[in-house]
Amino acid sequence: MIGAGPAGLAASLRLADRGFETTLVDASSTARRAIGETVSSRIAPTLAELGLARSFEQLGQRPLRLICSAWGRAELAERDGLFDVDGHAAHLDRPVFDAWLRQAAISAGVAFFRQTTVRSLRRRDITDRAGRWAATLSAAGAHREHTFDLVVHAGGRQSSISRRLDGRRSLRWDRLVGVAQHADALPEPVWRMYVEAIDEGWVYFTPYAQRSAVVVWMTDADLLGGGRTLRQSFTRALEKTQHVQRLFRDVSSELHVFDARSALSLEPVGDGYVMVGDAAASVDPLSSQGIETALAGGLRAADAIVSAFRGDTQPLAQYARSVHRDFEGYLALRQGYYLLERRFADSAFWRRRHRAAQPLERSRATP
Ligand SMILES: Cc1cc2nc3c(=O)[nH]c(=O)nc-3n(C[C@H](O)[C@H](O)[C@H](O)COP(=O)(O)OP(=O)(O)OC[C@H]3O[C@@H](n4cnc5c(N)ncnc54)[C@H](O)[C@@H]3O)c2cc1C
Repeated sequence: MIGAGPAGLAASLRLADRGFETTLVDASSTARRAIGETVSSRIAPTLAELGLARSFEQLGQRPLRLICSAWGRAELAERDGLFDVDGHAAHLDRPVFDAWLRQAAISAGVAFFRQTTVRSLRRRDITDRAGRWAATLSAAGAHREHTFDLVVHAGGRQSSISRRLDGRRSLRWDRLVGVAQHADALPEPVWRMYVEAIDEGWVYFTPYAQRSAVVVWMTDADLLGGGRTLRQSFTRALEKTQHVQRLFRDVSSELHVFDARSALSLEPVGDGYVMVGDAAASVDPLSSQGIETALAGGLRAADAIVSAFRGDTQPLAQYARSVHRDFEGYLALRQGYYLLERRFADSAFWRRRHRAAQPLERSRATP
């Protein structure tokens, strides 16, 4: 299992529960900078399936009570996240959440290699299934080769491992990036999320700890420059907001750029490998679906892998089809959301999202 994000953790936990010898390898050395992720109550059934619903409640993730959005009009509309049948939406503290899931996986018997990178993968020249992959694992400058029967790629959007599995046969739908700035000394806690559309994308503000929040400008990578520095572009975008700029005045801390493209692997299942989470399909943060989809996909893939080792490969084929089907559903949903905002129909960012979704490779005439 390459990658200990939600997808890799859910899949390895399920495989270990089913008695499979599972090795989970993760490269991250420090917790990545927060991007203020939230999850909806739809995460609850998946956590229940993992046997972790009660334990998640005890983790004390902060409920997401109010979403304030200026989308389609300048005034703020407030949506109450309180009354939700499956529980409530939550601000997710990702390092805490990932560490909690990791502990559950280790307790289930998963062998965890932390701060270890899968550098290379090579198919071994053997006729039976055992040990068909040779992987070079690197940690603290030392390299060791291990063999595996099956590789599950849960390495997220940007992992170079994709190339070694399916020759990077994936399609991208946009060039979305998030430019983030953090504030770690808010005068008082703001447990509310703000989303605001501007002509060159949209901006969200969300807390991720008691006195800490992040503001993120979502835009297309090719629209970032225009002869300005990243700092100038970011400041300009923030000044275009009416509501968020009032909450976030400190513009001095470092900026971080996150890849947020919508992308789909053409072959999420292939000879000796399975892709899960963002590695299989990644979606726009507007949907707030990435984590929940990664967990649910990890579980579905693990069940299909168990069937395949027992001789029935149909569920793996179904899993691959479901990745593509779900992505199509997501594209329709994405267009529907963006069409709710018509004030900036002349800007390239919104024009691209208002027309029928097409992969970039087939729509070079953009914008
Ligand atoms: C700006 C932004 C805002 C977002 N907001 C939300 C939100 O509000 N709600 C939501 O649900 N989702 C949100 N998302 C999406 C969410 O972050 C992802 O969908 C989710 O993290 C995917 O989980 P994953 O397990 O597939 O991959 P990841 O969480 O990316 O984990 C992949 C892991 O694999 C490791 N790895 C990669 N390559 C290797 C290798 N070669 N060897 C070893 N390890 C490797 C990485 O170090 C990493 O730890 C947001 C994304 C962005 C960019």
